Amino acid sequence: MLEGVSFEGRAGPEDVGRQRYIYLPFQVPPGTRRISVRYWFNDPVTAPLGTGPGNTVDIGIFDPRGIQFPEAPGFRGWSGSAKREFFITATAATPGYIPGPIFPGQWHIVLGFERVQEEGVHYRVEIELEKGGSAPSEELRETRPSPRPSKLRGGRFLRGDLHCHSVHSDGLNTVEELVQEAIALGLDFLAVTDHNTCTHHAHLASLSHLPIILIPGEEVTTYWGHANTWGLRQFVDFRCTDAESMKTLMRFVQDRGGLISINHPKSVGPPWLLDWEGFQCMEVWQAPWRFYNWESLEQWDLLLCQGGRVVAVGGSDVHSIPPAPPLHPHGLGNPTTWVYVPQLEAGEEDVLDAIRKGHVFISADPHGPELILEADTDDDGHFEVLMGDSITAPDDRPLSFRVHVRGGQSRRLWIVSDGAVAHIVPLEEEETIYHFRLACSGRRYVRAELRGPRGRPERGEVVWALTNPIWFSQT
Ligand SMILES: [Zn+2]
Ligand SMILES: [Zn+2]
Repeated sequence: MLEGVSFEGRAGPEDVGRQRYIYLPFQVPPGTRRISVRYWFNDPVTAPLGTGPGNTVDIGIFDPRGIQFPEAPGFRGWSGSAKREFFITATAATPGYIPGPIFPGQWHIVLGFERVQEEGVHYRVEIELEKGGSAPSEELRETRPSPRPSKLRGGRFLRGDLHCHSVHSDGLNTVEELVQEAIALGLDFLAVTDHNTCTHHAHLASLSHLPIILIPGEEVTTYWGHANTWGLRQFVDFRCTDAESMKTLMRFVQDRGGLISINHPKSVGPPWLLDWEGFQCMEVWQAPWRFYNWESLEQWDLLLCQGGRVVAVGGSDVHSIPPAPPLHPHGLGNPTTWVYVPQLEAGEEDVLDAIRKGHVFISADPHGPELILEADTDDDGHFEVLMGDSITAPDDRPLSFRVHVRGGQSRRLWIVSDGAVAHIVPLEEEETIYHFRLACSGRRYVRAELRGPRGRPERGEVVWALTNPIWFSQT
């Protein structure tokens, strides 16, 4: 037996300026076994990267447990504008939506207006309720045992990709396809970060016996910028509409032991339009350099010069890999983030901890180049300080540093301190250890980059690898 509800409306730029999300309440009677939703809006944006004219209206759903921010107790899924229909039953749902008890009571469709043209947008939402199921009960919850996640050999740099999308949001691949490809590329860890949902986490858990560290993530996708969260096994709310609500969310993530990172802070990102303070990480390198990473690098360096201590990370942000049709010219591991894990057995928490400490460099792909910056603070020839660490700068003498480069041939090593280039060193060998001294008193940081041509020399240089800084505190 079917029962239908529908909503129709219009939103103009003035409405959207006041309220980016609207909630459409509807009643679900007892005995409902399936909720199916279809929606439509006029003149959807068709240009790539959401540019060009048109409207973008996003959709999601909450059950009677509630819509409150940021706990979102009734969150049951979100698909942005990637899908025009979805369903939920006790045991199955469209990827991005959470299967489970169809609680009777008041549910809410949430519409998010990402983009509305001058004339406004018309929308229509149709909901179908199918009866015939049993009342919700605890037995309907899945009780899948989670296998013990596999551990990898540590005591080395582990390499991985911190940003990709599956069919659980707007990606074209299954979680399993992404994980298998990451293993084939030799990656040690992979974070899957679908937009504004957590339904891919269960799939990651079911693959955790494979020889790769799988990190549950979410790309918190607001209309003022995107942020990746890593390490939480739950939904993280995305309905931030200003700096204050983003702060609330940041605390939500950090209080639960997760990491949060500003994504692709560049004009095509989309850019970051909220406050910069308090974030542990920043995605300085997303996709290849032709996608405007120079803007992100400049933004990061500016923050460092102002005293911000933000860890640079990389992410491919892939939305498709073979066998799916290509959406972009790069794959998983472009770029690759390398993290130093001293423990002999490495798991998810060790990778996240290394990122937290800034023991991180980024390279163009899983094969490198490799770039490791270290310091020797007492001139005993032992380089005990790693990028990401903080040291006290002595007033009376310069300190000794070294950069270990693998894959440096015909490229140039840049040493950057406080927004200025301290050394540029042409490299002839594939492997080099470059030593330098730097008077650190009054400085905030030093870091390294490996730059070189990509293809024909007239196409200019790109960054092939970059390290996090060694930080200076003053005596
Ligand atoms: Zn994004
Ligand atoms: Zn993304």
